[in-house]
Amino acid sequence: MQRITIAIDGYSSCGKSTIAKALATKLGYSYVDSGAMYRAVTLYCLRKGIIKDAHFIREEVVKALDHIHLSFEYNSHTKASDTFLNGENVEKEIRQMEVSNNVSHISVIKEVRETMAKLQREMGKNRGVVMDGRDIGTNIFPDAELKIFMTADTVIRTQRRVDELTSKGVHVSFDEVKKNLLGRDYEDSHRKENPLRQAKDAVVLDNTDLSREEQLEFVLRLVEDLKISN
Ligand code: C5P
Repeated sequence: MQRITIAIDGYSSCGKSTIAKALATKLGYSYVDSGAMYRAVTLYCLRKGIIKDAHFIREEVVKALDHIHLSFEYNSHTKASDTFLNGENVEKEIRQMEVSNNVSHISVIKEVRETMAKLQREMGKNRGVVMDGRDIGTNIFPDAELKIFMTADTVIRTQRRVDELTSKGVHVSFDEVKKNLLGRDYEDSHRKENPLRQAKDAVVLDNTDLSREEQLEFVLRLVEDLKISN
């Protein structure tokens, strides 16, 4: 079978990147974390004082796009690409709560989305890619051969995120993380530009009660089914 495009969308902290990474490794595909791009733009705006106390002027964010260069470098330790903002590895910083608390306000901006979309389409143009995000199957690659829409129980998602942050030395309360996840889900689903939606032809993966191995097995079976039907 030819190399295909796999789009994984879904709610915040559903484990999209975990399964996307595992799948890409298994298939020998590249993995693209589209959320990291929106996070890097947000980090730049925070550092430059363009976002202050959750407020910003839209035009200033749009202007900042001309000064933002994003690049990605494979990290053999994590088996995924690290995100570089103007040449600096910001993989750790873009995961911080301050970025999480602002990213959904920045990702509604049309020009930001257009700039990121261009980069994402370029990165996936040769196929053989697993990309995760919110609008990959609906907007970035509407022709993707396999689309997965991920969801999971909120309490489980929150606990997974708290555990992940704790393991990285970031200490945040369960309630703060839960508020952030639900807030982002609401904003991402209700924005005008490319909102989070389940594509009509997406397969739903609710991983509330599934282990990583079970999820990977489920998705690999879908890939196998595609091979048989092609
Ligand atoms: O995937 P992650 O949680 O890192 O994404 C951070 C944020 O980036 C999301 O909450 C959303 O606002 C934005 N995003 C988006 N479209 C994508 C990927 C992420 O709007 N394709």
